[in-house]
Amino acid sequence: MTKQKKQKWKRNLVVMTAITGLGFSTFYPGLSIPVAAVEQPDQPIPKEESVSIVQLEVPNQKAKDKLLELGIDLTHRAQEHNGILEVDAVVTPSEIAMLKTFGIKVKDTLITENQWNARTTERQAATKIEASLAASEDTVKILRANYYTNQSETFLYIEAKTSAGTAASTALTATWTENGVEKSATLNRFVDYGEYMYHWLELPISAIPSSVKVTSNLGGTATGTVTQWLGADKPGNPKKHYVKDFVDHYMAPGELYERAKELAKEFPDLVEIIDMPNKTNGYRRLAQAQLGNTTNTAVVVTSKAWGHEGGNDLSVEFRNPGTINAPLKVTADRKKILVDLATDSSGKTVSTAQQVITALNSDAKQLVSAATYRGNTGAGIVSPVTAKLTDGLNAPANVSRDPFTVKAIRIGKHRDGSKPGVLGYAQEHAREWVTPLVTIETAERLLRNYAHDGETKKLVDNLDIFLVPTVNPDGANYSFYDYNMQRKNMTNYCGPAESDPAYRTSWGVDLNRNHSVGSAFDGYVGASTTQCRSGTYAGPAENSEPEARNLVWLADNFSNIKFAMNIHSYGGYFMWSPGAYDPNRKTLPRPTAGEEAFYWAVSDIMLNDIQDHRGTVILPSRTGPVPDVLYSAAGNSADYLWYAKGIYAWDFEVGADLWNKEKQRWEAVGFQPTFAEGHEEAMEFANGLIGMIKVAYNNAKDHQPPSTKAVPGNGKFSGPVDVQFETSEAATIYYTLDGSRPTFESAHIKLSGTREGAETLKVDKTTTINWFAVDAAGNIEKNYNPLGNGKNYNSVTLTIK
Ligand SMILES: [Zn+2]
Repeated sequence: MTKQKKQKWKRNLVVMTAITGLGFSTFYPGLSIPVAAVEQPDQPIPKEESVSIVQLEVPNQKAKDKLLELGIDLTHRAQEHNGILEVDAVVTPSEIAMLKTFGIKVKDTLITENQWNARTTERQAATKIEASLAASEDTVKILRANYYTNQSETFLYIEAKTSAGTAASTALTATWTENGVEKSATLNRFVDYGEYMYHWLELPISAIPSSVKVTSNLGGTATGTVTQWLGADKPGNPKKHYVKDFVDHYMAPGELYERAKELAKEFPDLVEIIDMPNKTNGYRRLAQAQLGNTTNTAVVVTSKAWGHEGGNDLSVEFRNPGTINAPLKVTADRKKILVDLATDSSGKTVSTAQQVITALNSDAKQLVSAATYRGNTGAGIVSPVTAKLTDGLNAPANVSRDPFTVKAIRIGKHRDGSKPGVLGYAQEHAREWVTPLVTIETAERLLRNYAHDGETKKLVDNLDIFLVPTVNPDGANYSFYDYNMQRKNMTNYCGPAESDPAYRTSWGVDLNRNHSVGSAFDGYVGASTTQCRSGTYAGPAENSEPEARNLVWLADNFSNIKFAMNIHSYGGYFMWSPGAYDPNRKTLPRPTAGEEAFYWAVSDIMLNDIQDHRGTVILPSRTGPVPDVLYSAAGNSADYLWYAKGIYAWDFEVGADLWNKEKQRWEAVGFQPTFAEGHEEAMEFANGLIGMIKVAYNNAKDHQPPSTKAVPGNGKFSGPVDVQFETSEAATIYYTLDGSRPTFESAHIKLSGTREGAETLKVDKTTTINWFAVDAAGNIEKNYNPLGNGKNYNSVTLTIK
């Protein structure tokens, strides 16, 4: 162990002791410390604490890094206010007390556990309505079927109503005939202040049909005659025919994939579902019970079988056998483990927790393992007690406990790898409920506008679009049914001392810290390799988690993927690589000045699309490389895609702060806002994701090489000169200063500093600059071939007198 490591190790001990008030053997059960020599005072086991999101005032960057190092569960939101940093964190009351000792002020409680519970209730009510509606075929009624002609165009307008209208999964499709050609289009759902009004469409037509038929995906149909609408002379908005709004409640993984399956059935020519090869652990746990209420006497019993595979059927009883001088004895059948405690000559039980544990681990090892409470020596005498083991999972039985096959929705007319690929993936972090809705909404818009919106057709015909609605389905189920604030997956890597049931909400691996570039294992900041209960636990090794490997598999298997969006919440951020720095705050390599310019240029397109929905502005202060605007996130997936696979990779944080006019301040929306707010976020960020898909399309169509100019160019100068390059578009410039041919191995123009523009070249002696530029689509200036022998690169000579 190096000196530096040793110091860090010591520091961690102090920190963890401060968090829990327990001795260090609790956290380092593997250390050989002569524990037997230490008398441990017996204490009541504290009740489980509830968590809230609070706003912390952090005096400086160093204190913020300290927070990360402590394993405090930060949300993605941070904001600077008069030089003081505000970050949001998910914490318990005892963690709050510990933070105060580090000079960190708790400013506001933003969201309490009660509010999260209300959100779960809201979702369950919506799910019930959905289920009851889906059970029966609906009735469709056509309210209106009209045509009208304005100055330039004739339009078809339809209003129809379904008895299942409030469910967003209900889709109505109209069909009619124009000049003998059958046409069809999906109707828009119109909901006003939560009340379903009707479905409608308005489309330009080339000939007036005599009738229309409206069909629901639930089976209902209706036919209506098309009549002229008098006085309909308003010009049609050209985008009015574009349908959207296909989500009406927060969706758990099962629902997301059910929807995806239906889409694949409805649009077999445009969609397929990809089963990814690495199954998750599954929404499942071993069953547990903790017998005894004090630290020295408690025995934690854990089943060998998963809860749903027999663990939940087990019970354990410690009893006084009723005889004197009895030995400690364990008998077990398949359901019940009976521990007859040892007695003394007066018939009083004398078995200690440690003795009972040793006996259980020897005589009931087929069924259970047993441990003391958090590394305690277990010297206390246990009392007679009975307990039933449980996995503590609350999801209804129809939520599968089996390992989960994570799926991607692949959309495109040509899904053979010949078209450029785009990837959108959501919910690496389980509690970010809005994020899957962004992908589902995007999928539906692409499919349901395909037949009648030229812009959508172009995208679907020319791109290969991959959408992963939930990367972390096990954690998501846990967040929906058991613990709202679950961030990580469900795999527990903690040892026995940190595996008692009261720790169950802090197990798991952060899937956005488990990747192999700039990882905590490489020494980067912002994840923990040692604290299994940290909010940013990186796992036992890079890519240890199937969920992370699935993403790697996607990128490996579909090398046509060129653009990716990693969708998180909340805070309203728009970010790209580098995403991590080392302890000296040295980041992973910055993109070239040209790549950075491209990131900014296309961000502008996507952010404008987001703004179109309801005016949300993603602030410039929340746009840029991750460490410049948020924090270091060692081993995140977007860095993997950018550095290892050369994919332009962004991170969205949906859920921008809302302006409170009364209080004149921005307010955080949280991970699980009311659905009314979550819905708006899904709509606006679906705009943004489709914005990225448009960027990919434009990039694929871009065959125009960039052109550049050195300023100043050829000439005689009396002293040192700063040379800069003007470019026609975002482009990377490779150059030499020694007269040689420039290649991809040559130096390139870098950024002059964090959030600054391109550097200038300082020329202080007579120099020839040879260079070429390459744009984001790979077009090279003047079609120069850096690998060949041609001399068609740019060249200027600056003579310094
Ligand atoms: Zn996240």
